Amino acid sequence: MTIAIPFDNSYARLPGGFHSVQAPTPVQAPRLVAFNTELATLLGITPGEIGEMAQVFAGNALPEGAEPLAQLYSGHQFGNYNPQLGDGRAILLGEVVGSDGIRRDIQLKGAGRTPYSRGGDGRAWLGPVLREYVVSEAMAALGIPSTRALAAVETGEAVRRESTLPGAVLTRVAQSHLRVGTFQVFAARGEIGHLKRLTDYAIARHYPDAEGPMGLLTAVRDAQARLIARWMGVGFIHGVMNTDNSSISGETIDYGPCAFMDTYHPDTVYSSIDRYGRYAYSNQPDIAVWNLAQLATALIQQMEDKQAAVEEATGIVHAMPDLLEREWLRVFAAKIGIAAPVEQDKELVTDLLVQMARGQADFTNTFRALGSPKARDQFTDPGAFDSWAEGWRQRLAREAAPGALMRASNPAFIPRNHRVEQMIDAAVNGDYVPFHRLNSVLARPYEDQPDHAEFARPPAVDEVVQATFCG
Ligand code: AMP
Ligand code: MG
Ligand code: MG
Repeated sequence: MTIAIPFDNSYARLPGGFHSVQAPTPVQAPRLVAFNTELATLLGITPGEIGEMAQVFAGNALPEGAEPLAQLYSGHQFGNYNPQLGDGRAILLGEVVGSDGIRRDIQLKGAGRTPYSRGGDGRAWLGPVLREYVVSEAMAALGIPSTRALAAVETGEAVRRESTLPGAVLTRVAQSHLRVGTFQVFAARGEIGHLKRLTDYAIARHYPDAEGPMGLLTAVRDAQARLIARWMGVGFIHGVMNTDNSSISGETIDYGPCAFMDTYHPDTVYSSIDRYGRYAYSNQPDIAVWNLAQLATALIQQMEDKQAAVEEATGIVHAMPDLLEREWLRVFAAKIGIAAPVEQDKELVTDLLVQMARGQADFTNTFRALGSPKARDQFTDPGAFDSWAEGWRQRLAREAAPGALMRASNPAFIPRNHRVEQMIDAAVNGDYVPFHRLNSVLARPYEDQPDHAEFARPPAVDEVVQATFCG
């Protein structure tokens, strides 16, 4: 083999109860459709010849040092506890330590059945694989913690969903795949030795300065609060914030029926499976607190003095709403050009959002246009914007460099749903030009790129994506 991945595995060293050794199931005719050279360089991966890379990233050939396994976890799905989930279609090949010193998982998603597959086929189809590729890379380019996409392979096999679709495998890279649900499974089973071992592992891997289970809880709280505030700031709706999709590292993980909002409304939901809007845009901060409470409940099981632990954990969780609000204000104040917000600035932001919802303003384009005459054109009633803008301009007089701050905080380009859908349709028909164009525009989201203005355009009426689906 010419491809070389400098594996340095740690999860595989954990006891057997943490995972199942599981090789990927080979596919018929793998074809490499995307490879992230820049990410490969960061990870110290030496790319190989194309056919060989297709074999490796399809799971047909194991590179030296890989120790494939499926991880065990459980979790609350839409609020209901499911005692066993686990990687049902993902296989961890191993870990590498990048040139930045960060350890990361290399995982194949869609690589075949595992002991945790339940009724599933262990596979993914091309649409969600390319969506995750584009959206996760866009997220990273926006500066928001996220898993990354290293490669995508078409399998040459069909997968059955509502119809028959082309199969694919995504190679996903994460600081780890530890989730709230990884802790929940051991806590719920009363496997306290494993719970302690996992706690130590998570601290060593992600938060070496954290002290004990409550230190870990605090660190996860802070990372999640920062992450959710950043999601809110770009109009991102994860869609499936189950505890098994809530990462300990504070990265965005598990891109399913996720979406970026076009027209702003706080109640926006795209996911076809989120029928009651549990994971609607504006519910995300509350859900993050709920998820942290589940982590707290799990972590407490290993503490000697339960009563004291409950009190301490309650304090940590109860501090999260204020923290989220502070992070939210910091993010949104920057979007309107305010570097160090004070309490009163909250009203200024909220007033703008109220006007945006009323005026059916495009979330991304309105913020990007602030300070230019184009901003008012985003509203059905531009007069409402004008009266808000008067107070805003007075406030900005006290800011040093609001223009630069706004440009760095308001992307021109996000992965718009209709573009993502059009890209998928083209790829299914063998045309990867839209995929590559979309990736390259989204790699520089804060630059104007006048030649690519069409990627900043909201969907026309007949292009609007009403619902997004799991894969
Ligand atoms: P998700 O909602 O994507 O986080 O997935 C929830 C659970 O379902 C996880 O345990 C997944 O591994 C599993 N799962 C999703 N799709 C499949 C599939 N096609 N085959 C097997 N397991 C799956
Ligand atoms: Mg998941
Ligand atoms: Mg998923």
